[in-house]
Amino acid sequence: MHRLLKRFYLRTVQAMEISYRLARGIDYKTLSEHILSIHQLKDIDSILYKSARCLKDILDYRLFAFAMRDGEAVDIWLDPKLRSDNPAILDVIKSDLCVAGDSYILHHFDDEASEAPGSGFQQLDNLRSYRVLDAGFTARMYLLPNRIFMPYHHDIIETIVKVVGTSLATFMSIKRLQDAALIDPLTLCYNRRALDELLDRTIAGTRRYGTDLAAIMFDLDNFKRVNDTHGHQVGDHVLQAVSRTVLAAIRKSDYLIRYGGEEFLLIMPETKLGRAVEVADRLRRIIEITAIQYGGVRIHVTASFGVADLKGDCDRNLLLQEADRRLYEAKVRGRNRTSPDAQLLLFDTVPMPEPAYQYLN
Ligand code: GH3
Ligand code: MG
Ligand code: MG
Repeated sequence: MHRLLKRFYLRTVQAMEISYRLARGIDYKTLSEHILSIHQLKDIDSILYKSARCLKDILDYRLFAFAMRDGEAVDIWLDPKLRSDNPAILDVIKSDLCVAGDSYILHHFDDEASEAPGSGFQQLDNLRSYRVLDAGFTARMYLLPNRIFMPYHHDIIETIVKVVGTSLATFMSIKRLQDAALIDPLTLCYNRRALDELLDRTIAGTRRYGTDLAAIMFDLDNFKRVNDTHGHQVGDHVLQAVSRTVLAAIRKSDYLIRYGGEEFLLIMPETKLGRAVEVADRLRRIIEITAIQYGGVRIHVTASFGVADLKGDCDRNLLLQEADRRLYEAKVRGRNRTSPDAQLLLFDTVPMPEPAYQYLN
């Protein structure tokens, strides 16, 4: 009798569980499959794309936005239907992540994860924001429910948010290790090890899309004298100051590499030779007028620039050799120069829109 009762009890509980799940309309098998696949993803865009799909399939929620702060860097991903950069949602995110002005990078989710704008699209009152598990970074997910919010939704969303958090933490720690191996610790530019991969990838993209690519090689003039006069520590500080100045003056899509001791290489995708020469000459002038302060010492340095572009039959070695040859020319012509000469190229330059450069004060 006791055993019969126990079996009846278990069956009832099972039936209740099934009807409970059916009533909620949650497919737990699909949920666990989604969770498993999010765990296996290795890049941030795929993690967000998969989470958006999971939220849509399981709860009919829209992943509206995602924001992440890692140190100073803030990245914001928006629903692709928000191409107009909806200021309301951006204001919410900026206030949540303490972002000042425009100091963030904006991305959009993969288009497939989105649907046509539906009801509530502009109604941010329904927006639900979840803090993603911290692991040295701060992140938030912003969701819009397409149906009435039920308390049990919260548990499911919390589960998904946790999975996103652990996947992101793994991704971030791998990325930090990779970055550390590719960044020069003194100047925070890319190092020579990064150059091979960056240049090969950029050349492949340039060929595939039939665009342009330019390389600028520059070297500080008479730098030995700085070390000899002020000491190696001041020399290090000058190298840091110059790379900081250049990094602040180039586009986000350009790569600055510390090529040698006081020699740098700037890889500029989608840039014609004429434009690159203009940029090189502008960087030359910025370096020339920047006063570098160290303790009570005030130092001015100059640099010489060689510019080359990727010709049809040219490979990575020829591109670098050409930039190096031009740099040598600039040194021979008296230093603090750009080769080819910006003035001589003026007539060859195709007018292009002004890129968004930032300047240090
Ligand atoms: P040029 O105009 O011909 O380039 O003259 P230069 O004096 O800059 O060139 P040279 O090749 O004679 O000397 C380069 C100097 O850069 C010598 C080296 O000690 C210094 N240097 C290289 N790497 C570093 C570094 O990491 N820190 C410091 N402080 N100095 C460095
Ligand atoms: Mg030098
Ligand atoms: Mg040198």
